[in-house]
Amino acid sequence: MRCASCHEPAGFLKSLCADCGRVFSLYDQHKGDLGLSQLLDVFIADGVPRGKIEAALASDLDGVGALQDRITADMANSLLAAMGLQRRHTPADVKRLRETGGAGASTSRPGNDVVPPRGHR
Ligand SMILES: [Zn+2]
Repeated sequence: MRCASCHEPAGFLKSLCADCGRVFSLYDQHKGDLGLSQLLDVFIADGVPRGKIEAALASDLDGVGALQDRITADMANSLLAAMGLQRRHTPADVKRLRETGGAGASTSRPGNDVVPPRGHR
């Protein structure tokens, strides 16, 4: 059998050679957590030859899309999911809490809010 990714001999009844198999299993371990450049570092650190990494990234084994596109989409979905989970704590909420000092219903603004920036010329 030939490797479905890099088209080099993969071994008897194997659809992927050892190197490409490692790329896809590392991808499965980290998908949604690491972006493309970070995953590249993982592949390289694992000792996968550069040519095999490139072949695997460009390959579309099951018609879902090239691996590199899937990595990017996984990352975007992961970020969207994270943002959805944290909608109750938007950056604006955090900023408002910090500015009011956690004083709850107080409507008075901290004194330093109206002081002009120091060092103003
Ligand atoms: Zn291969």
